[in-house]
Amino acid sequence: MSKNKIYVIGHKKPDTDSICSAIGYASYKNQTEKDEYIPARAGDPNPETNFVLDKFDIEKPIKLESAEDKKIILVDHNEFKQSVNGIKKAELVGVLDHHRISRPETQKPIYFHTEPIGSTSTMVAEKLMNKNILEKDLAGILLSAILSDTVVHRSPTNTKKDERIANKLAKKLKIDIEEYGKRMLEKKSKIGEKTPREIVLGDFKEYEMGENLLGIGQVETVNPEKVLEKEKEIKKEMKNIIKEREYDLLLLLITDLLEENSKVVVTGKTSEFEKAFEVNVEDQNAFLEDVLSRKKQVVPKLEKQFK
Ligand code: MG
Ligand code: MG
Ligand code: MG
Repeated sequence: MSKNKIYVIGHKKPDTDSICSAIGYASYKNQTEKDEYIPARAGDPNPETNFVLDKFDIEKPIKLESAEDKKIILVDHNEFKQSVNGIKKAELVGVLDHHRISRPETQKPIYFHTEPIGSTSTMVAEKLMNKNILEKDLAGILLSAILSDTVVHRSPTNTKKDERIANKLAKKLKIDIEEYGKRMLEKKSKIGEKTPREIVLGDFKEYEMGENLLGIGQVETVNPEKVLEKEKEIKKEMKNIIKEREYDLLLLLITDLLEENSKVVVTGKTSEFEKAFEVNVEDQNAFLEDVLSRKKQVVPKLEKQFK
């Protein structure tokens, strides 16, 4: 009997967690089940992810242009708005995630595992370690993904479980978490030659909230000045993007990983944003003290406002 091919894939505009949890979970499934599990990606890896894959000498997953007529496991997201193209015509067979649930509909019963923790890779590493089948290189990219998603355990999304699993991985690899984490944050911060459009859409997610369509980009950086140098062009580009894509609200969070706050550039339904966060937006700018997490500190307030 021929094996089913099942693609394991993270969200569009993949971050390190989306790429590494797909690789790790496919490895887990291949070692524990009969079908063929293929790690895939819905976009190109960012510089941080490339650094991580290079460091541990792991090949990047294949790029899936469309999920149509394919069997799919979603990792690191469950909102179809954020999925690879063609997801509505795919057969969804599983979800492994750590975000809000947005009711993906299925024909058959599926495996659906989410936890309110800091990283999908924490769950993947736990599964592999429980079966004693976690190899070193894989441990390296999973540790990296945990540190990336939790901002080295500083994010409000971070949990004790993320720390416990990360510590086990770090011990196995003889890696110093703070030291390695810092190097990763610097990679994440590389704005360099990015165009304003790339800055806005680099780490970007869409959300349906009530009748509204929102787009939220985020730049996580240890030197926000580098981004703010391009503020004028970024604002201009955001006006183009909101028109093109017909968003009701378009945000760019410029998150200072060291000071632990976010500057926000707001386009669209500004007064809704002001109400949601009880702040003033002036010249499209707002400031959110202690805000690091899009999913835990930004999305829920907007969801409440737009419902
Ligand atoms: Mg992610
Ligand atoms: Mg994640
Ligand atoms: Mg993230």
